[in-house]
Amino acid sequence: MNTLFELTDQYSSNNYSPLKLALKKGKGAHVWDVEGKRYIDCIAGFSVVNQGHCHPKIIEAFQAQSEQITMVSRALYSDNLGQWEEKICKLANKDKVLPMNTGTEAVETAIKIARKWGSDVKGIKENESEIIAMKGNFHGRTLGSLSLSAQDNYKEGFGPLLDNINYIEFGDIEHLKRLINDNTSAIILEPIQGEGGVNIPPDYFIQEVRHLCNQHNILFIADEIQVGLGRTGKMFAMEWEGVEPDIYLLGKSLGGGLYPISAILANETIMNVLTPGTHGSTFGGNPLACAVSIAAIDVLLDENLIEHSAELGQTLLNQLQLIDSPIIDDVRGRGLFIGIELTEQAQPYCLEMIEKGVLCKETQGNVIRIAPPLVINENEINQIADVIKEVLEKNKKAH
Ligand SMILES: *Cc1c(COP(=O)(O)O)cnc(C)c1O
Repeated sequence: MNTLFELTDQYSSNNYSPLKLALKKGKGAHVWDVEGKRYIDCIAGFSVVNQGHCHPKIIEAFQAQSEQITMVSRALYSDNLGQWEEKICKLANKDKVLPMNTGTEAVETAIKIARKWGSDVKGIKENESEIIAMKGNFHGRTLGSLSLSAQDNYKEGFGPLLDNINYIEFGDIEHLKRLINDNTSAIILEPIQGEGGVNIPPDYFIQEVRHLCNQHNILFIADEIQVGLGRTGKMFAMEWEGVEPDIYLLGKSLGGGLYPISAILANETIMNVLTPGTHGSTFGGNPLACAVSIAAIDVLLDENLIEHSAELGQTLLNQLQLIDSPIIDDVRGRGLFIGIELTEQAQPYCLEMIEKGVLCKETQGNVIRIAPPLVINENEINQIADVIKEVLEKNKKAH
């Protein structure tokens, strides 16, 4: 009989290279592998399960809605779309929302809105609209989102991609000023870069971007697909900067780890550039997605997961910053979104941590990203800190 690994590898397309570790159960901040070994989950499906694995209230909402109606085309109204829209709009302080399914679709949608707004409102000539993105970004894998990537190895062989995308280093305000011109329709950034290595922007950078956007009539698009909804100890990571973007993009934990749903939020003057027939999605805003997402947002609020993320994140950060190891280059983070940058490849250390029951993954080769479900408790946080300390300090002797 084939092992599950062999079976999966035989039929899987080759675009992933997973660790030989198969999970079969999750509850709260924990997951179990097929052998029954338990781990504290510091990946959380890449910040999809902020509310914890298999949250009973979210499952309940899913089951209840499954027995009512799951799919209504957007040619009709459904009874809970408005409820979800009101909730998410009030949360983000925006007039309007457009529901899609995945993160990359939210980004695609924002690119379309930015271009349409550029031509209809700003008066940019057709085909001349420009967007400025950050180096080190991650906005998704479909062709539009991919065009925003500054990473050549993601793009090689997939051209032609979108034209008129320019890049600056995350934080380089002077370069940004030089790139801005009358054809600039939007600037897109993650307020903290996730895949890029938990990169926190320099002080005042985000405020200056906001200022430049106001000055030059440019849309500020904040991709909070990974860092939004409590991950960084605020509902939106933009709150750390005291800045409101023109467009918010949400995804990942918006569906509570149960169902994919993403959202594009903006005020009326921007969102209204879309008119019937100019955009859409078959599954976007379906009743099942809305029911799950309403529950997912309620859980974040009712269980004070934002404050919890802020407090426990700070506790963990403090402990990690005390670790004395020559291979640690930097420890940074906000809320339960922490990056430990090493002077060497991080994967061997992640494997050791996994061995000791803390599931984690490196990003950008040398950064260990710690992003557990926000329902994690203090005891588990201390366990994570102990394991990281053990693994990284043990190495001290070897050096
Ligand atoms: C994950 C992610 C995306 C893409 O989301 P998908 O659901 O995988 O398409 C886009 N932007 C950011 C910041 C992300 O972390």
